[in-house]
Amino acid sequence: MATVKLVNVNKVYDGGVHAVHDFSIDIADGEFIVFVGPSGCGKSTTLRMIAGLEEISFGELYIDDKNMTNAAPKDRDIAMVFQSYALYPQMSIYDNMAYALKLRKIPKEEIDKRVRSAAEILKLTNYLNRKPRALSGGQRQRVALGRAIVRRPKVFLMDEPLSNLDAKLRVAMRSEIVRIHNEVGATTIYVTHDQVEAMTMASRIVVMKDGFIQQIGVPDELYRNPTNMFVAGFIGTPAMNFLRGTVKGGKFYPDGMENPIPLTEEQKALLVNYEGKRVVYGIRPENLIYEKSDRYKKFAAYSFPVRCGIVEKLGDIVNVHGMAGDSEVIAKMNSKYDVTGFESINVAVDTEYVRLFNESTTKAITPEHNEYEESDVEVSLEGDNVDIIQIKKKSIFEKVKELFKGKKK
Ligand code: ADP
Repeated sequence: MATVKLVNVNKVYDGGVHAVHDFSIDIADGEFIVFVGPSGCGKSTTLRMIAGLEEISFGELYIDDKNMTNAAPKDRDIAMVFQSYALYPQMSIYDNMAYALKLRKIPKEEIDKRVRSAAEILKLTNYLNRKPRALSGGQRQRVALGRAIVRRPKVFLMDEPLSNLDAKLRVAMRSEIVRIHNEVGATTIYVTHDQVEAMTMASRIVVMKDGFIQQIGVPDELYRNPTNMFVAGFIGTPAMNFLRGTVKGGKFYPDGMENPIPLTEEQKALLVNYEGKRVVYGIRPENLIYEKSDRYKKFAAYSFPVRCGIVEKLGDIVNVHGMAGDSEVIAKMNSKYDVTGFESINVAVDTEYVRLFNESTTKAITPEHNEYEESDVEVSLEGDNVDIIQIKKKSIFEKVKELFKGKKK
């Protein structure tokens, strides 16, 4: 059991790719932390630096308050589970789990105790004599977890451990891993590109993009109070709708829409510094209310027309895709409403769940941060694919230059 602390950890690969920028986090004993973000955002690199498989270019790593920045992997007391489970095919499940302990010359009785206890937790007791080929994909992945568990490490690191499994098994293994974590109780850091995995498994999530942490928080916090448009668009499916427009006289004028949406008193207070400025009105598909719903009346003052395109039927719910003014929107609604598509409907905004963003910086406008600012870099926003060009910190470039001074590459 352990705490893990990263202080301004950076990774600059040979050749100059700055893969991780100033990564800092305090992980408490027993937490289940998920690093999530699109491919290439630096999740694995960060995990590998914690494991000691990649050198930390600058910054510090502490495990249980001990500086481990330059410690050898074997001295860090960490076990890593990868997406390919790499079991030894000729060995039984028992021997696969016992192997690392034998190498460490741990007494036989102790090995037996640990393997059997792990097998119990993993529900593998009846399979210990089998060879890996006689197990299903999910069972093999559990053996891979078992090999990590028997070592009783301080910290578990998992790099997309479920991505080789089919969709149904992945869902089942998610809750398995959470259950195992609850039983074993060890600090766990889990990497995935799948936001649903992150939302369902994590005690806290770290959202990353382009090597920068975007936000750290409990799942509900990220869902309700995303710190910027990237997090807002990345967490939740379908993604949050973004209506772009201008604030004027207590109203929001979405681009291409005939009528403005009135602002609530709270929103007006939030936007005191935004008169005449560009704002993005963020509203999740599940917080748009169809005109035939009973709840519509309550929010009818905050409604707008949607020109519907396709309707995606998912059984109990439907996702209605359409245009609201110049913005693409999706409304998630009960399938009983029988919206057929290619028609015009009205939807109302459940104003309690609106998140407002500065269009220039893409940052959320909150009571603590409601000064108007303009970004000095260009930001491109394309539908769901919010592409935020990060403002790179000058100090970092200075450090990189220093680091590569005198190096060949
Ligand atoms: P993720 O796990 O989020 O998909 P990675 O940590 O694997 O991302 O990669 C982050 C960035 O670092 C990417 O731009 C990737 O191309 C780069 N990268 C990863 N490994 C190396 C390496 N060994 N040498 C150079 N660049 C690398």
